[in-house]
Amino acid sequence: MEVAIIGGGIIGCAAAAFAAEAGARVTLFERSEIGAGASGRNMGAVQHPFDSQLAPLYEATVGIYRELAEGDGQFQFPSEPAGVLMLTPDPTVLDTEGDAAPSGLRSDLLAPRQVQSLEPSLAGDLWAIRLATGFPIPPHAATATMARRARAAGGQIEVGAAAIPAVENGRAVGVILEGVRPRAADVVLVAAGPWSPFLLDPSGRWQPIIATWGATAQLDFASPPRHVVEEARVESVNQPSEGQLSARPPAPADTPSLFTLAAAGSVVTIGSTFLAFEPDPRAMAPLLIERGKRFMPTLAGARIVATRACARPQSLDGRPLVGEIAGVRGLFLAAGHGPWGISCGPATARLVVDAMLNSDSAPIAESLNVRRFEAPTVREVSV
Ligand SMILES: Cc1cc2nc3c(=O)[nH]c(=O)nc-3n(C[C@H](O)[C@H](O)[C@H](O)COP(=O)(O)OP(=O)(O)OC[C@H]3O[C@@H](n4cnc5c(N)ncnc54)[C@H](O)[C@@H]3O)c2cc1C
Repeated sequence: MEVAIIGGGIIGCAAAAFAAEAGARVTLFERSEIGAGASGRNMGAVQHPFDSQLAPLYEATVGIYRELAEGDGQFQFPSEPAGVLMLTPDPTVLDTEGDAAPSGLRSDLLAPRQVQSLEPSLAGDLWAIRLATGFPIPPHAATATMARRARAAGGQIEVGAAAIPAVENGRAVGVILEGVRPRAADVVLVAAGPWSPFLLDPSGRWQPIIATWGATAQLDFASPPRHVVEEARVESVNQPSEGQLSARPPAPADTPSLFTLAAAGSVVTIGSTFLAFEPDPRAMAPLLIERGKRFMPTLAGARIVATRACARPQSLDGRPLVGEIAGVRGLFLAAGHGPWGISCGPATARLVVDAMLNSDSAPIAESLNVRRFEAPTVREVSV
């Protein structure tokens, strides 16, 4: 079977690896470079999601990463979670926010003294909940490794190749590259992150996934915390709000942000924003550090070595859209993981590859199935 995949993020690269290993002839088309979107520019924390519907995807993904680390000397996955500290100066926030945290993983409320004994570099007045999750990895590593695995299994990866699905008589027949060059395929997977809706319905009317932009910076920072640290309320932004959708770009100094920091070896990443427009990461990075100093005063000595902006593919209900598009045989979608794509994406890729290659595969759960939303009006474009 000939499989075409559009998008070289974590979902597209993992799907390419799994489909090629299952014996399909796979070509992945990436318009820019592997990991050009959020998959190469995220915080690098593999973390248990707050939505129980996503938990099985996270657990399966951790298994996939462990297996990946065994088979690829360039990819390292921590044997134990570093732990996530959800921090706040106001413990009443954690009373309610803690409800969202997975109950089997969360500690009791930790007083400032306990927080400091876990992470001495944190400010002395912070309360926390510790979650027994959080495997820090370099932000680009999972996607790059999946791309290597796809190539090793015989998959082709074409970068600099912008593609749209080709559809004839209600069936996917391949892709069109740069709007002109056709490439035939039996099955097409759209895994183009926040750009996916436009590839299915170029009119822009179908938008169950929107871009929520984040700015991050990589730091040269001695003695970073061992835990992933997050300002409490980070999980509450896993929904696009009316404000986000209608916001006009504020000045950098007025841009809302939430402090997060994850350190994978010498790669220390600080974030982040949740915005409807693309921020200037060079303008945001000093602010992220300035605001982070409230939580970690030692950030005063950090040097910025790189800045990035990227878009989360945020679905309207916070869950990915996975499966075959209604009314178009052979056209599949896997996108919409919001802030959880590195933590859950590889398992989603396995799910969609199974549905693409096996007609008798188990149906995709309603909570993840693309068909829980109205179907896009897919334009017929023949090869
Ligand atoms: C600041 C930030 C921090 C994050 N931190 C974490 C974290 O710590 N842990 C976690 O689990 N998740 C995190 N995420 C979320 C995670 O990064 C995303 O959910 C995930 O990377 C999405 O992967 P994807 O493959 O769906 O999409 P993307 O990574 O967006 O990949 C889509 C690809 O498709 C390509 N493309 C688009 N259109 C076309 C076309 N027409 N033809 C060919 N190619 C095309 C793009 O160039 C891109 O490379 C974070 C996100 C952000 C923004």
